[in-house]
Amino acid sequence: AKDLGKNRFMVFETRMHEQLLSRLDQENRLREAVHRGELRLHLQPVVALPEGEVSGAEALVRWQDPQRGLQQPGSFIPLAEETGMIIEIDRWILMEACRTIRQWQEESPATAPAWVSVNLSAVHLDLPDLTDHVAYALATTGLSPHCLVLELTETVMMRDLAVTSARLEELRELGVKIAIDDFGTGYSSLGYLRDIPVDVLKIDRSFITGLVGNGRQQELVSAIMQLGHTLGLRVVAEGVEDAEQLALITVMGCRYAQGYHLGRPQPAGELRAGLTVPVTA
Ligand code: C2E
Ligand code: CA
Ligand code: CA
Ligand code: CA
Repeated sequence: AKDLGKNRFMVFETRMHEQLLSRLDQENRLREAVHRGELRLHLQPVVALPEGEVSGAEALVRWQDPQRGLQQPGSFIPLAEETGMIIEIDRWILMEACRTIRQWQEESPATAPAWVSVNLSAVHLDLPDLTDHVAYALATTGLSPHCLVLELTETVMMRDLAVTSARLEELRELGVKIAIDDFGTGYSSLGYLRDIPVDVLKIDRSFITGLVGNGRQQELVSAIMQLGHTLGLRVVAEGVEDAEQLALITVMGCRYAQGYHLGRPQPAGELRAGLTVPVTA
């Protein structure tokens, strides 16, 4: 019986050891991916309503893993956040997004998105050089600060209010805009809308899913939009997946929408090809 217990412990220990190795392996592979240039920038269009024209685009990271193919952020962002690698990833995406949109605006001003939004993980707000880095990306690429939106989640906003609002005010002084991402999903009160300087509200996808046929939810979304507009904010409805949802939010007075129904995240070249009006002979 004693031997059996010892064996069991060894099995347990081996499994923990394997898990640890696999995590270290994943971590190393992600670190190498960043340095080998395996990250990809995808852009998802954000459409102005009711016209339905592309207004801006959200930058979303992908990992082109030579072994496993194209990886979605859900499979590597959590590890990147735990290990701090997210800082490097976000900075790469920021630079790439600014460069891509600036070039597009120069080459075809008529069809280029007017702005690009970039996701920033919470840790960036603790870094004293965040503003310098954003200024550096703008200076290097030549993108106008007014064309850059930085997306932060509500949970980020609820950290240290004084530090957060000072950091965001610094960024806004550069001329860039601040968006609250996934609005409505955090544990927040509405207090930060008073205390924290923001320009854009992105209503979380969960409020748009199931909107059709749910009067209560429609009232809620409609009220959030009115609140945003009253405060002078740009309000974006996320996760619009079908024509019915689009029709509903348009009637509610929604001015900006994003979702699979309007365009999937895709490489800039593909998005651009889809937006180019063919020249008729
Ligand atoms: P998010 O910032 O809320 O981005 C929107 C996510 O919703 C994207 O997923 C997008 O592909 C997806 N989406 C867009 N329209 C629809 C729709 O109609 N239906 C559904 N079901 N989904 C839709 P993605 O690209 O997998 O990114 C997931 C999350 O990973 C993002 O959520 C964001 O939190 C994070 N993320 C992505 N790129 C970056 C990045 O460069 N830096 C950081 N820090 N986080 C990133
Ligand atoms: Ca986002
Ligand atoms: Ca979101
Ligand atoms: Ca999200």
